[in-house]
Amino acid sequence: MRFLLFDADYTLLDFPADMVRSFKIMYDACFSDQRPYSKELLDCYNACNNRAWDRFERGECTKQELYITRFVEFLSESGLSGDPEAVNEKYFTALAETGTAYPGAVELVKELSFTYQLYIITNGNVVSQFPRLRHSGLAPYFKEVFVSEAVGVGKPDKRYFDYVAGHIPGFTPDEAVVIGDSPSSDIQGAVNAGLRSIWYDPPGAWTRERSAPGYTWRAESYEDIREILRNV
Ligand SMILES: [Mg+2]
Repeated sequence: MRFLLFDADYTLLDFPADMVRSFKIMYDACFSDQRPYSKELLDCYNACNNRAWDRFERGECTKQELYITRFVEFLSESGLSGDPEAVNEKYFTALAETGTAYPGAVELVKELSFTYQLYIITNGNVVSQFPRLRHSGLAPYFKEVFVSEAVGVGKPDKRYFDYVAGHIPGFTPDEAVVIGDSPSSDIQGAVNAGLRSIWYDPPGAWTRERSAPGYTWRAESYEDIREILRNV
């Protein structure tokens, strides 16, 4: 094994922590003069955001439409007034200020980087994903970061993985493994691309998908990932 293709959010980066921080920063800047911040407003946004992502994953809207409509719905349901495009931009600017690695994530990738070539494969947003990886301390251990938005197509599309393969010097599929939490994007993507995969499935994982058809190995912890790689 030579090439480790790591997913970012929910695998190495604590997206929920960063999202809550960013939402709060955005809220204070855009709406605090209308109503004080509350947990109910965050829950309301989460519901709108999840619905928008569901529509995107069903192919009913573009990524850009997803970004804007979640705030159109949030404004409508909360009764707050604002410009959804400006609110979305503020949210991404705030998100770019964050970057929380899970405990042990930096140590894991640092250690692995002595033996393997590490790459990030992420469907995250292009404005925020690079700074978040820098702030988290993860960035120095990766040779390159492939953000789907910049590629033009994302996981699990085979064309995304073809692009990644074409941009890694000396890449061979049988020496690569995809490591990620999402059955529908990471594991399905690996299947589509003919790559082996480690399904990172820690206790209490966010995903509603409780199975990951086609994964090669399953890891519940970073220690499991180390163990699997030692034995490949
Ligand atoms: Mg993920």
